[in-house]
Formats: sequence, C-alpha cells, structure tokens
Amino acid sequence: MDSPHINPFLKRTKSTVHISALYSDLKDGKISALSKAITLVESTAVNDSAFAKGILSKALPHSGKSFRLGITGVPGVGKSTFIESLGKQLIASGKKVAVLAIDPSSSITRGSILGDKTRMEELVKSDQAFIRPSPAGTTLGGVARKTREAIILCEAAGFDFIIIETVGVGQSETAVHSMTDFFLLLKLAGAGDDLQGIKRGIMEMADLIVINKADGENRTAAKHAKREFQNALHLMPQKNQYWSTKVLTASGLNNEGIEEVSEKLKEFIAITIENGNFKKRRDKQELFWLHQTIEDRLKSEFYNQTNIEERIKDLESQVLQKRITAFEAAELLLGH
Ligand code: GDP
Repeated sequence: MDSPHINPFLKRTKSTVHISALYSDLKDGKISALSKAITLVESTAVNDSAFAKGILSKALPHSGKSFRLGITGVPGVGKSTFIESLGKQLIASGKKVAVLAIDPSSSITRGSILGDKTRMEELVKSDQAFIRPSPAGTTLGGVARKTREAIILCEAAGFDFIIIETVGVGQSETAVHSMTDFFLLLKLAGAGDDLQGIKRGIMEMADLIVINKADGENRTAAKHAKREFQNALHLMPQKNQYWSTKVLTASGLNNEGIEEVSEKLKEFIAITIENGNFKKRRDKQELFWLHQTIEDRLKSEFYNQTNIEERIKDLESQVLQKRITAFEAAELLLGH
C-alpha cells in the first residue's frame, strides 16, 4: 500500500537532485541543459511547475549580466538575415549570443511567423549561439512571461548578448520593448513601408532605426529613407536627454553596416552605464512586469469564474436599460 512512488519526501529529494544536476549543467553553459530548463519553464504541466520554479530561483542571482537587444520589423524585412550577420560578428568579438522570439500569433495561426526552421542556419551551428523559437501561448502576457524567464536562464548559462525578436503583431513590440535594454527597428526603403505606414508609438520606442537591404539598386532609396526618418525624428520630442534615436542603413545579406550598428550599441551601453540609466531602465521594467502580472492574474481569475459571461451579458443589458448604473453592475460582478 505504501508505495515509495507516492512518498512525498522521496519525490522532493528526487526533484532536488534533478534540479541541481540540471542547473549545474546549465551553469556550465551546456546548451542541452539550457534547452531543457526553458522547456520546463514553458511547460503547462502541473508537475513541471515546481521544477521550473526551482531552476529559476537558482538562476536568478546569476542573471542580469547581459545586453538585451530587442529587434522588430515586418515579416520579410530581413530580421533573421540581419540577426545572423550581427550574431556572427558578436561571436567573433567574444560574445555568447542567444536569440529568443516573441510571436503571440503562433498560438492563433498554429504556425509561427518567426518559427521557420531554416532561419539563421549558420548561427545555429555555432556553440556560442543559442536560438529558440517563440514559446506557444494563448496570451501575449503568457508568452512574454516565458520569454522573460528564458532570458534569466540564458544569462545564468553565460549568454551575455540576448536578442529578442518580434514581428509587429498586436502589442508584441511593446512587450519586447519592456524587457530589453535597447530597441532596434528594422525598416525597408520604399515599398509602402516608409514613414506613412509607421506607427508613431514604434518610432517613440526605437533607440535605433536601421533601413535594411541597403544594397544593389536599393542603396539610393535607403539613403533617402534614412534622411526622411532623421527629419521626422527631429520633429518629435527627443527620446531622452542622453540618447536621441539614431538612423543607419545596413545590408544584413552583404554584411554591410553591421559594424556601425554594433558601434552604436556599444556607445549606448557606455553612456547608459555611466549615467546610471541602464540600471534605471531595468529596474523600471522589473516593476512594470510585477504590476503587469498582478493585473493579468486578477483579470484571468475574474474572467475564468463560472458563468461569468452570462452574468456580464445580463448586467450589460440592465445597464443599457438604465435599471442599474455601470458602477453598480461592476461592483456586483466583482462581488462587492
Ligand atoms: P524576416 O522575415 O524579417 O526574418 O526576413 P528574412 O531574413 O527571412 O529575409 C526575407 C528575404 O529577404 C529573404 O529572401 C532574404 O534573402 C532577403 N534579405 C534579407 N536581408 C537582405 C538584405 O540585406 N538585402 C537584400 N537584398 N535581401 C535581403
């Protein structure tokens, strides 16, 4: 009757050993251990959640020592080619590069825009690189959380340059901006993907705009677009006193302009470390995610109540018939 398999103490000992071994491999930079740890964190299985918490709490004190770069751009702008080019250069300069993706559309379309297996073929071969497609999830909040936890694990595994990539789906750019030290926007010259089509919010978030595919016949158009963006930025309030959004041209395919991008990143790091804003931005992000998680949790607890949709519908019609005020209805729903 007293099966050792259900002895909770034995189970706990087993998990402790398991976590320690996995963490020790992760800390040694073993890619397989890092992959496994991220899979645990991404898992929705109840049994995995204790493991995930255990490994994260071990990793947390060793996290934070990286540069987190957010990259966004429409599909086809050349993100993976650009990241491959930049990544190879970073590795040549002694960095360990992890590339994570945020793509909440993968859960909706069941096929990720970013998840193509052939992406970054060369980078993926390097043992100094780690590439992970977007975690699946039904909400951006869920996907973002898993990505933030993956960042912690990558950092504990010694990756000192983390690239978080996204396409502009819904609010995913805002999420990436809220978890990175620097936000890079890739654009194309002409092709309707110019100033008219750009969301103002994205311009405000960007620390650097790179007009990509500035090669061949596209060179002149790219230079023109660069000037256009610079002029537009002049008309906007400066991002902050210590950094104004820069515009560069590059060709990920021909490896041109990538060095200049790296230089800008170095310049930004030097300035923000010196004036304390590097840490300030990170601290602000930590608190943002704390409050965001509370909000998300409260919302999902509320909307997951049984019959909540019917109750909302019923109270909505009562509000519209002026039988009850909107505030009273809300209070009733919230159970006050
Ligand atoms: P993503 O969807 O943003 O990741 O874009 P990809 O990197 O997959 O590139 C989409 C297409 O554009 C591919 O056919 C690439 O070969 C091409 N491409 C990517 N970068 C460049 C570039 O710098 N110059 C040119 N001419 N083509 C590029």
